[in-house]
Amino acid sequence: MKFRNKTHDESFGSHKIVSKSNSNRVLLVPSYILEQTQKTFRYYWKKNQEAVAYWCGKENDQDKTDVVLSIVIPKAFHSGGNYEVPADESTKIGKTLSARELVCLAQIHTHPGDSGNHSWYDDENSISKRNDFLSLVMPHFGNIGIYDIQDITVHECWETKWVILDNQAKSKRIVIIDDFVDFRVEDLEYRQ
Ligand SMILES: [Zn+2]
Repeated sequence: MKFRNKTHDESFGSHKIVSKSNSNRVLLVPSYILEQTQKTFRYYWKKNQEAVAYWCGKENDQDKTDVVLSIVIPKAFHSGGNYEVPADESTKIGKTLSARELVCLAQIHTHPGDSGNHSWYDDENSISKRNDFLSLVMPHFGNIGIYDIQDITVHECWETKWVILDNQAKSKRIVIIDDFVDFRVEDLEYRQ
């Protein structure tokens, strides 16, 4: 087998950037999911290591809108240029999700530097390569300060190939929902 270099730069540009998602689906993500995911990555960015998490929830085929309900953190090997989830760990996660009637809707992992593009390794080792599956990559090992989808590169799988969603496609495909809205903030009586 021919040796393939696993650096991130190598595959830069090998993914088509699209302005419309093939799936036409919407993924609703409560803001605490993004915040909590990034907090989990903090331990690894302090060690300059990549990290990974899975966003799981419910699919709704009627209006093609899916909702993330929980974050799953796999046991993985972490390094500065990679992460690896052992096959038995992925199997265990799959069984747990199906027992809870949840679906893995997206994976999210971190990269060193400002590269948010899938490496060849990422293309091959995503937990799923089904149509519609999303793979999000956070640059700077997740140390990007704010919890905003615009700083994250979003890949979508279609017929086992990955494309990158441009900003417009990304904001239609993934919608962050405020999970706590308090209209009392202007009212002194309720200030704590
Ligand atoms: Zn990667």
